[in-house]
Amino acid sequence: MTENVIDIHSLGRSFGKKQALQDVTFSVPKGSVFGLVGENGAGKTTLLKHVLGLLRASSGSISVFGLAPVQEPAMVLGKIGYLSEDRDLPTWMRIDQLMHYRSAFYPSWDHEYAKELVTMFDLDVKQRIRSLSRGQLARVGLLLAIAHRPELLLLDEPSSGLDPVVRRDILAAIIRTVADEGRTVLFSSHLLDEVQRVSDHVAMLHGGQLLLCDRLEAVLAQHSRWTIRLPEMVQSAPDIPGSVSCRGEGNEWSVICNGQHEQFQRWLSEHNGEVIEQATPSLDEIFVARVGG
Ligand code: ATP
Repeated sequence: MTENVIDIHSLGRSFGKKQALQDVTFSVPKGSVFGLVGENGAGKTTLLKHVLGLLRASSGSISVFGLAPVQEPAMVLGKIGYLSEDRDLPTWMRIDQLMHYRSAFYPSWDHEYAKELVTMFDLDVKQRIRSLSRGQLARVGLLLAIAHRPELLLLDEPSSGLDPVVRRDILAAIIRTVADEGRTVLFSSHLLDEVQRVSDHVAMLHGGQLLLCDRLEAVLAQHSRWTIRLPEMVQSAPDIPGSVSCRGEGNEWSVICNGQHEQFQRWLSEHNGEVIEQATPSLDEIFVARVGG
């Protein structure tokens, strides 16, 4: 049986009248690279903060390594590496001082690995945090999150501030290395192509609710994109059974289906339409189709 590092059951969280998370249930298997996607305000950061025990659930439950993070913070946090979205690091410290300070919290801090990361990220450890560019800050944040070789790596928008080379090569390599060593990565991202490239599981949040959650290959296999031609021009997108979105104009439309291909094909033959192309949509296309643009 698959061992889960995180189990979330009917998790709900509100801030006053704002329901940030609603009835969210899913698990993160050990060793997976789990991508959390969703539009601005979908609830991604709120969910990660529950994993860290920084927020208490309004309803439902969450367990991390079989423990409740709010009740047992020391046991849980010691095994987690966290990169926060706002990279909140003490501005008055130098990088080497910050590394030294952080290493004191983690018995598993790997000094050799930390040095390798400094070189890989092209950092000058004598620089003060306040003088760093956004990208350098992101690199330092990443270094601090991974240098103690955590069992669970939580990255909130890790690509934000990173240039395309670091994003594509270094970040992806780090994420894969962590997973190949049997450790687990849960990360949020707006960059769907990146999520598709590095994840093996994906969860999609929308307005605080879980829209879908599965292995990436299952999500891709469940959806299909059809480019169709209708015999006549139509003014607005036809409402096709089995489709989750339909975009285009005139008589040529691009339709994303969610597993209901028979219904869609029946409709197409009843309306004398023809298929021009059929393909597997990208995660980005599925996201736009499901979230509605
Ligand atoms: P983004 O991609 O923009 O970072 P997100 O998916 O991480 O968004 P969250 O930061 O989790 O979204 O926010 C979810 C919702 O909860 C938003 O409507 C946000 O305004 C609200 N929210 C989050 N934290 C608080 C808070 N401390 N007080 C009040 N509302 C909050």
